[in-house]
Amino acid sequence: MTEKYKIIHDRDICIGCSACASVCPKHWFMDNDGKSSIHNHTKTGNGEEEILGTNESPLTEDFEDNMDAAESCPVNCIHIHEVKEDGSDTELI
Ligand code: SF4
Repeated sequence: MTEKYKIIHDRDICIGCSACASVCPKHWFMDNDGKSSIHNHTKTGNGEEEILGTNESPLTEDFEDNMDAAESCPVNCIHIHEVKEDGSDTELI
């Protein structure tokens, strides 16, 4: 059981199938451009990638729900990283 994690969404790849929003509506919703977005996300880079939780301030709740959302994605554009005590992280999916 992972206790601290962050979510990275590669919106470039998202095909807008809405599976993640169906599986985990608490964290995922369908946005105006037809792709999904993360509630309370931070946009990075060119704005196409979104992050919820960081290494400095990782998420601590709803891990299984977000793993279910990531596993439901047909194009694997939802990535979940475990954040370790030393601040490093490991990609789980
Ligand atoms: S499941 Fe994947 S492809 Fe479908 S809307 Fe969510 S992020 Fe996009």
